[in-house]
Amino acid sequence: MNYETKWANLNKKLRQSAEDNYGLASALFELENHQRETGFIKDDLKKIKRIVFQDPNNKSYSLRAQINPKRAKRHDGSGILALAGEHPNINNGCFLCRENIKWQQEERQIGFEINLGISDYIAFMNPFPLLPNHVVIASTAHRTQELRLFQNDEQNQDLALVLTDLCELADRLPNHVGFYNGVGAGASIPDHFHFQFFQRAPDLPKFPLEERRFSDIGCDFTTTLVEDYPLCVFRWMGELGEVVEKATSWITNFARTSKFETQQLTANFIASRSMTSKTVTLYFVPRHRFKQFWNGNAGIVGGLEILGEIVLASNEECNLVRYDIMNFEFIEQGLSRISAPFTTDKADEL
Ligand SMILES: [Zn+2]
Repeated sequence: MNYETKWANLNKKLRQSAEDNYGLASALFELENHQRETGFIKDDLKKIKRIVFQDPNNKSYSLRAQINPKRAKRHDGSGILALAGEHPNINNGCFLCRENIKWQQEERQIGFEINLGISDYIAFMNPFPLLPNHVVIASTAHRTQELRLFQNDEQNQDLALVLTDLCELADRLPNHVGFYNGVGAGASIPDHFHFQFFQRAPDLPKFPLEERRFSDIGCDFTTTLVEDYPLCVFRWMGELGEVVEKATSWITNFARTSKFETQQLTANFIASRSMTSKTVTLYFVPRHRFKQFWNGNAGIVGGLEILGEIVLASNEECNLVRYDIMNFEFIEQGLSRISAPFTTDKADEL
């Protein structure tokens, strides 16, 4: 059976599963099973260990580390470049373009097509997952991950679209967490727009960031800021449309009034939905695109690290645990390295 037929058949089956069972989550679990059977997913997560470090000053707070040595192998590329000469290669061999994926992954990788109102996406399983059901949800079209937060227009269409799509996907996946990593803020493929989603770990469903208190910053009664966290994280909670609208106008205004060089401003967005109600939670982390690492010039801080879980993959990183260097303060300091000063001229307005 050729690749196009296999793709079409699997998509038909998954669409059916989404209708019969628990929506998008069912389809993504079936996709995962399929991709495990074809041998595309190379890690079963069994080797991953998680260590929770309690805050010595406050027992209800924690930060944690994930020991995941297999992640270090993800850049091996397994002979992909050798194949490039023999195949139609579009957009410099972009790893998220469907035309390239076909030959790069030797026809083993198949994606699930998702339509969200006006945007089209394809969900691909991550071959080296960080958590269960780790998917990359990439736009069908090859377009940049770059997002300009600063716009003169209060409506900020580009930002509103990204937040709408992220929150809508989160809304359809109540036991998952999803994020957008901006360019210079953990995006591994900056040329092709994508989100990442994963299911909450069954043993540790809540993330350290989610345990924290958030307080009103006194501007519009809906925007809150995390307390006592190494990073500056803003949060909105509520009904989807309302969250997107409030966040879009607040972030646009933030970008405009920030003293920060707007060219250097990038961001992470994280979204999830409550298991028990229709409430959506959205986090925004303003970032400086030249401050990316928690460990000197290694260890990129992306959505998972912002949630309070850093990933240790290389030998050097794993040694931090082996030699007892890693603890709560170590992670706290590491994360605070990427936190940029966000004082504004009009700080009082924030
Ligand atoms: Zn692409």
